[in-house]
Order: sequence, then C-alpha cells, then structure tokens
Amino acid sequence: APLRARKPDWIRVKAPTSTGFAETKQLMRRLNLATVCEEAACPNIGECWTKKHATVMILGDTCTRACAFCNVKTGMPRAVDPLEPEHVAVAAAEMGLQHIVITSVDRDDLPDGGASQFVKVIQALRRNTPSTTIEILTPDFRNKAQAAVESIVEARPDVYNHNLETVPRLYPTIRPGARYYASLRLLESVKRHDPSIFTKSGVMMGLGEERLEVHQVMDDMRSADIDFLTMGQYLQPTPKHAKVADFVTPKAFDAYAAIARAKGFLLVASSPLTRSSYHAGDDFAKLRAA
Ligand code: SF4
Ligand code: SF4
Repeated sequence: APLRARKPDWIRVKAPTSTGFAETKQLMRRLNLATVCEEAACPNIGECWTKKHATVMILGDTCTRACAFCNVKTGMPRAVDPLEPEHVAVAAAEMGLQHIVITSVDRDDLPDGGASQFVKVIQALRRNTPSTTIEILTPDFRNKAQAAVESIVEARPDVYNHNLETVPRLYPTIRPGARYYASLRLLESVKRHDPSIFTKSGVMMGLGEERLEVHQVMDDMRSADIDFLTMGQYLQPTPKHAKVADFVTPKAFDAYAAIARAKGFLLVASSPLTRSSYHAGDDFAKLRAA
C-alpha cells in the first residue's frame, strides 16, 4: 500500500521557476528574512512569489512548539534580530506591497512571547510604507496573551489573524501546545479592545473533522465576532507529520463557504489550496472598495 495518500488532481501547483520567484527569494535572503511560504512548504509559493506576494515570518525560523501539521523546525530559537523590523519594511517597499501579511513562530521562550517585535514591525511599516495595509497572523502567546494583544492592538494593524487550525476534538493530537478556547478568546479580546480592527481565523480541512464540527467552529468564531474565515486542505509536509485523513472536494469547500457566508462572515476563502495568506491582499482590497 502507498505510504501517503495520493493527491487528487485538484491539488495541482505550478513549479516555481519565474523571474519574480527568483527575485523574491533573493530579496528575502539579502534582508535575512524567513518566510512561511518556504518554511511551511506552501504549495502556492510558485504563484504567490511570481506575483511578489510573500508572507514574512518574524522572530526567526525556529519554533518552540511542534504542531503535528507544521513543517517549521522546532528547537531553541536564536536571539531576536533587532534589524528585522526595518528589514520587513524594506522588503514591503521593494516589493511594492499594497498589503503585507506578517506571521511568526511561537516564542514561548521570550518574556513577552514576541509581541514587542510585532509592534516594532507594524511601526516600521507605518513609517516606511504608510499606504500598505497590514495583516498580522500571531501565535496564541499562551499565558501572556492579554498583555500581548493589548500592545499589538495599540499599534493598530488592519487585520488581526490567529488560526484555530482545527476542531476542538482534534487539538490534543494536532495542536497539543494550544487550547481551542484560549485561541477564540484571544480573537474576541482583539475586537473588544479595538472594534475597528478586522479579525480573521482559519481551519485546515482533511484532518478527520466532521462536517457538523466545522459548522460548530464557525458558530464559535461568529460568537467571538470574527470577521474573516479561511479554509484549505491540509497537506502532509513529510511522513513524520500528521496523516491526511481525507481530501475534501472543491464542491465541499464551496458548500462550506456558502454556510460560512450565511453565518455572517464578511470574507470567506474556502478551496483546497486556500491558506491564511493566499490572496489575502486582493480579498481585503475588494472588501475595502465595497
Ligand atoms: Fe506564502 Fe501564503 Fe502564498 Fe503560501 S499562500 S506562498 S504562505 S503568501
Ligand atoms: Fe508551526 Fe506555529 Fe505550531 Fe510553531 S506554533 S509548530 S510555527 S504551527
């Protein structure tokens, strides 16, 4: 029997060979920036980097956690790079980004969980590229969440994203370092502190979740006033990672999207290759123009 489930033909991606791809890669290396596109082995990297959409991963490339779905390496991270905020701003300017998505590894080793670096990155972007809209995708900051959220919200990102990743039943195996309700509460508190910030979350499909469990997650998100939802197919990055339980069909993704819209999300992205940051800028620009 095959060790890994064969990918269906709707999971087809272009090989990264364009000039834009090479230029994005050079820029990131020159500025010493890590990207989640590379570290998470994202299937969309060919398409996104060709269009010069990249999601920068701040606070280094090594995570203090080890989620069962995630390709980012685990270990003791290096010291925080004080030049990183300026480098992110330079990257945004050189790529001419209208919208930038900034994420990070989890830094449970830092006294503030890394929140101050998010603040510095937002400030550097506002100084250097004031018209770029800023979306941050943060970790849960564990027991430092309240202070972290307060400081980041004061820096006023346009979109605050934090992924729930999966249904609560699967947390112990898929996201063992995290708590479902703590993540929900984090997003709820962003809205409470500043209702003008859009909140966003996402789930991976194909980890063994049931349809009604997904509907329940949507309801939980709406009760926490979460504005945007992303849903995409989980792909096993290496044989050591959690197995794909099933490949959700494009039709089923559409059905989930229709339900999500009916439940009141302002933006819904739901397809096999949807990722938190996939087309995030285009979708947000459309919403702002509407
Ligand atoms: Fe990077 Fe996001 Fe595009 Fe994937 S979808 S390549 S993580 S910008
Ligand atoms: Fe990956 Fe984030 Fe989990 Fe770290 S906390 S292993 S970066 S998903």
